Amino acid sequence: MTSLSERIAQFRKMATDDPANDLAHFSLAKALMEDQQWSEAAQSFAKAVDLNPDFSKAYQLQGTCLQKAGQAEAAIEVLRRGFTVAHARGDRMPRDEMGQLLRGLGVEPPEVAAEAAAAAGGEATGFVCARPGCPAGPYAQPLPKPPMNDELGQLVFEKVCAACWKEWLGMGIKVINEMRLDLSDERSQTMYDSYMKEFLGLS
Ligand SMILES: [Zn+2]
Repeated sequence: MTSLSERIAQFRKMATDDPANDLAHFSLAKALMEDQQWSEAAQSFAKAVDLNPDFSKAYQLQGTCLQKAGQAEAAIEVLRRGFTVAHARGDRMPRDEMGQLLRGLGVEPPEVAAEAAAAAGGEATGFVCARPGCPAGPYAQPLPKPPMNDELGQLVFEKVCAACWKEWLGMGIKVINEMRLDLSDERSQTMYDSYMKEFLGLS
């Protein structure tokens, strides 16, 4: 049987030989965690997260290790970020566990649309919003109808959730003001549309 210190050495070699391998850092971190080397483990989880910002389980364990290392503030910061990531990805178990850890540290998890939806008895809709990091995640609600009577309106209707569309409307006004767009002008309209597509993840 391989001892824990041998496994740590193996994973450390793997992570050193292939520094861009998020799973190598994650495996090293887990072995360090098992050995109760909390600070070192947290650093390796941080590397896994740097390499793969969607790695929700890594945030959770990084937060746990920081807490064990007595770095409550750093733990809270990591767990809040991880909670939001896990939520956006629909990773419910890590999300809920991070929520628990945060409450244990005396803070409420970030407000996310899903919590409100769940509290209201909402269920996952099956609608997948195209916007990267859509805050509604699995609770995304489709728009009731296309917001414009053209091809782009149809595309938005098919791909973007109601919450993100509403957010874009607020952002769109800022774009118009800041770029001094005159939407009766074709070039301005094209620019406005391209900002919209980028914001909504349609480009
Ligand atoms: Zn959305």
